[in-house]
Amino acid sequence: MNGIAFLKQSREMGLTSRADSEEITARQGQAIPKNRTSMPGRSRVRLPEPFVNQPPVLGQGTGMDSPSYINRRNILTAAAVSAVPLSGLAWTMLTSSLPGQQSRTNNAPAGDSGSLLVDSWNPPVRVNLTPAPLDVITLSIDGPYRVLAPGSPKILGDGDRLPESTVMPVGNAIRVGDTSFAISQVELVPVRSPAIRVGKTLYRGSVRIFRKPGNQLIAVNVLALEDYLASVINSEMPATFPEAARQAQAIVARTYAVAHMKGHPEFDVFATSRSQKYLGHQYTDQNGRLLAGESASGREMAQSTAGIVCTYQNQLFVTYYTAACGGRTINGRTVFTDAVPAVKSVVCDWCREAQRYRWTGALDVASVSQAIRTELKKNGSDFGTLQSLTQEAGIEGDLPYYLVSDGRQTQRMAGTILRSGLPSGLLESPHFTAEVTNNEVRFSGRGHGHGVGFCQWGSRGLAQAGRSTLEILSYYYPGSSTVRLRDSTG
Ligand SMILES: [Zn+2]
Repeated sequence: MNGIAFLKQSREMGLTSRADSEEITARQGQAIPKNRTSMPGRSRVRLPEPFVNQPPVLGQGTGMDSPSYINRRNILTAAAVSAVPLSGLAWTMLTSSLPGQQSRTNNAPAGDSGSLLVDSWNPPVRVNLTPAPLDVITLSIDGPYRVLAPGSPKILGDGDRLPESTVMPVGNAIRVGDTSFAISQVELVPVRSPAIRVGKTLYRGSVRIFRKPGNQLIAVNVLALEDYLASVINSEMPATFPEAARQAQAIVARTYAVAHMKGHPEFDVFATSRSQKYLGHQYTDQNGRLLAGESASGREMAQSTAGIVCTYQNQLFVTYYTAACGGRTINGRTVFTDAVPAVKSVVCDWCREAQRYRWTGALDVASVSQAIRTELKKNGSDFGTLQSLTQEAGIEGDLPYYLVSDGRQTQRMAGTILRSGLPSGLLESPHFTAEVTNNEVRFSGRGHGHGVGFCQWGSRGLAQAGRSTLEILSYYYPGSSTVRLRDSTG
């Protein structure tokens, strides 16, 4: 079998209804200061598959193929994941240039020679479940567990089961149910996985609690990367999208996660669209329905692309992605300071079936004026009542800028700034035109999300047109390559 054989061409051409698949959220990622894009979570992905209790993925290997260089001796066990601190070596190697480790370019199939040596191809990922710190966290564990200090094997406590309990800071301690631990961070490690629940969501792996200033807490789920991905794929993309699109999503999400393993003391990524949407193993929606965060299909997408990541000039890069670009993706560097040249503008009308390929919206002039005034005040300008709002002529493919005038002055504002300053959901993307009337401002725009990188709806269109997984990646990240992570001890 050659290297590409495991990446099956999409056979599934099934369409999804616009309504249920439009719930894809956009990436926010690390925006440059003052040029922030804002895409508050639209966490309404509803998965068609009912929850089925599945055995842990860990240790099962790739299933569809078994490359010899994936050394199963080093696959972490579910119970061990939480006790293994993220290796600094892994991300150092991944984010440093490794000439010679990667032999292929232009997205040729990744084979044995197209690989990166790392400590583990399936390292733990630390996912912040609480983008805003909380006063109290509700938590339960269905089965035996231990309490550790993160990164330390020392056992601070244990139990056979933890009924639903509140976790809160008390003095210099963290109290879990009735027990106080005089420490600023604790890790609850179930013996079996998945067994730990935070709020109404069940997670694989363990959960770390960090005490933060102001007597607040954050919760971080620590689990194997590939298990995390099995959920992210479903959280980010409907199961009805074609297989090639979902495999591309898996590779993009894996790369995004590993590229963020940069030694932050507490976590690597957020569980929301601020990084990538992650709904855990199973969750309960607003209507009380139990839904699968992770499914057989999501696991298959992770396994069939196991360890594969995108690289540019022998380095991992932040694989920004967006729900629907609306006709052309935006040059990454004009939005995100850390975007590499492979995250460049490409023409894409493959997303034209997305509901928000084109959109309209309106808001009264006073509210739009106020939003602009608030933004411009940060620069010391005193803006009056909006008279005109026009897109500035610029380089095609770059982030659009706008000229706003109150009749006395004309100011320049990035589309991302206008988007984040106006009420959430009004501007679906930074790409729009506006018409100012006496009463209201009418917006007409294209695309959904920040518009940078891999276009999720576009990948659906490309897959339906017969493009392969690697062709889709190459389309949105021109000049990038794919390689497979390989255990250094293998
Ligand atoms: Zn597109």
